[in-house]
Amino acid sequence: MVAPARAERPGASRPAPEFGDVDPAGCPFCEGREAATPPETFALGPPGRPADTPGWSVRVVPNKFPAFGPWPETGARTGLFERRPAVGRQEVVVHTPRHVLSLADLTRRELDGVAEAWRSRAQAARASGFPVLHALVNEGAPAGASLAHSHSQLVWLREEPPAVAAERRAQDSEGSCALCRVLAAEREQRVRIVLERDGLLLLCPFASRSSYEMLVAPLACRDDPFAGEELAPALTLVAEGVRRLRSAEGAVALNAWLHAPGHWHLEIVPRLTVLAGLELGAGYYVNTVAPEVAAGVLREA
Ligand SMILES: [Zn+2]
Ligand SMILES: [Zn+2]
Ligand SMILES: [Zn+2]
Repeated sequence: MVAPARAERPGASRPAPEFGDVDPAGCPFCEGREAATPPETFALGPPGRPADTPGWSVRVVPNKFPAFGPWPETGARTGLFERRPAVGRQEVVVHTPRHVLSLADLTRRELDGVAEAWRSRAQAARASGFPVLHALVNEGAPAGASLAHSHSQLVWLREEPPAVAAERRAQDSEGSCALCRVLAAEREQRVRIVLERDGLLLLCPFASRSSYEMLVAPLACRDDPFAGEELAPALTLVAEGVRRLRSAEGAVALNAWLHAPGHWHLEIVPRLTVLAGLELGAGYYVNTVAPEVAAGVLREA
């Protein structure tokens, strides 16, 4: 629901653009503090660099505080509560040795390194029997980030998570890919598109859940983001969108994630408002900036 007037209602304020632990002192992701994280599982750096020492450009480490912890084996369990996702590792990808807070601050080379890390860890996950990799970025305390230093998380899964499965079912419901049809319609209308580059679109999707929600997708219908060469330019487009959003609205907390399998894409949801009873209870998302308006702002930013 698009309700521009709601932005002016008394008490309507966005969550403070809080970026948590902004001070680099004590940041475990900064170069030189490799001992503060579990031992790395992957890193890009000069040949011959010993593991867990400075000199890296991208570094992957196991998540010290995984969301899916080991399941307690004791206590009452009935059949009702037994179903749980089979989760392999949960890893953190530290995007850069520099203490920067957003994808918007990463160089093109650093974003290439992030794509390479995601791809390499997706292969490792598959080789260990986890065909689905859920990659996500949380930026800012209102978006759930506990550490400010730019990073992403990789969750290794045995099967696609419910949101991805539901979306994929909806995509094929009419015999041809719905996202392909959406992208074709958007390209014809050119109202919600922010940028088209490298065979990829950056747009503000129709029925955005939040102001300035963005979608990055390859025009070609591809199932596997890790097979082709489009992931790095896609991440560059995400960073470009976040940079434009920041220049239009200031620093904004956000969540972003990669959706695959299905016609793969990246979604970026800025956390400009707090989700409340209407959103969580009814599934109605109230958006104060229509996607057509948002796309116009981002094109000019
Ligand atoms: Zn840092
Ligand atoms: Zn498609
Ligand atoms: Zn999606």
